[in-house]
Amino acid sequence: MQTITHCPLCKQSQFNSFLTCKDYTVSHKNFDIVSCQNCSFKYTNPIPPPEALGDYYKSEEYISHSNTNKGIISKLYKVVRNYTLKGKMKLVQKHVSRGTILDYGCGTGMFLNVCSRVGWTCFGIEPDSGARKIASEMGLKTFLSKENLENECGSQRFDVITLWHVLEHVVDLEKTLAFLKSKLNPNGVLIIAVPNYKSYDAEYYKEYWAAYDVPRHLYHFEPKTISALLQKHNFKLKETLPMKFDSFYVSLLSEKYKQGKSNYLKAFLTGLKSNLRAKNTGNYSSLIYVFKMQ
Ligand SMILES: [Zn+2]
Repeated sequence: MQTITHCPLCKQSQFNSFLTCKDYTVSHKNFDIVSCQNCSFKYTNPIPPPEALGDYYKSEEYISHSNTNKGIISKLYKVVRNYTLKGKMKLVQKHVSRGTILDYGCGTGMFLNVCSRVGWTCFGIEPDSGARKIASEMGLKTFLSKENLENECGSQRFDVITLWHVLEHVVDLEKTLAFLKSKLNPNGVLIIAVPNYKSYDAEYYKEYWAAYDVPRHLYHFEPKTISALLQKHNFKLKETLPMKFDSFYVSLLSEKYKQGKSNYLKAFLTGLKSNLRAKNTGNYSSLIYVFKMQ
């Protein structure tokens, strides 16, 4: 295991325990989440070494990268995903009507495929070879890593860069953000979706909250800390949008982790309560942040 000695956001070295969570999907080991004493940023600490992190993604249940279709949660997830893909597309086109797009952590390329069909020039980065293969088979231009993209098309800039539930997974936060900044056109938009531990479902489920997803989620964001992080790279927040389905999906999983079995009604009610509360607080289970360069 590798101990993070300095806060990934403010670089101070003092932190307190925040929560101990279990990895319910792969290793079934416990991982600690700490809170920076200076800036309150939450991060998983210690973490598996970078070369071992890939092992924690090896699960049939880790459905974001696979096309298995077992169980009600998986089925529901797919129905909702098709709906939300269109919503994501609309959001992108609200800011830039057409152009070049990079989906960082594109998985099997489902989002890029939607973009491609309406005339966007699409690029994807995806470390998982199985997922990347599926994306390539759809005719998408995909790369293993940011270094790989840099080597093959170094001068390429993008009008839109998206990270849909990806930033919480990247090991080198600073290098990744510097890379994204260098690849974005001056008037481009950077769209980042991440879970929000300030949501009601997170507060209700505590260590069972599925979106802590340790150790795959290295950072645990809330509106204040993600803005501060992007501000360091000269990005200014333009807009925050809710992902209203996430509270239901995350509650379904969390309920299963907490009780050892599914409880669809309880999960639905918790998801609903989370969205209703968030109408006033803005703290939805997951949020989409739209940034522009200053
Ligand atoms: Zn800090």
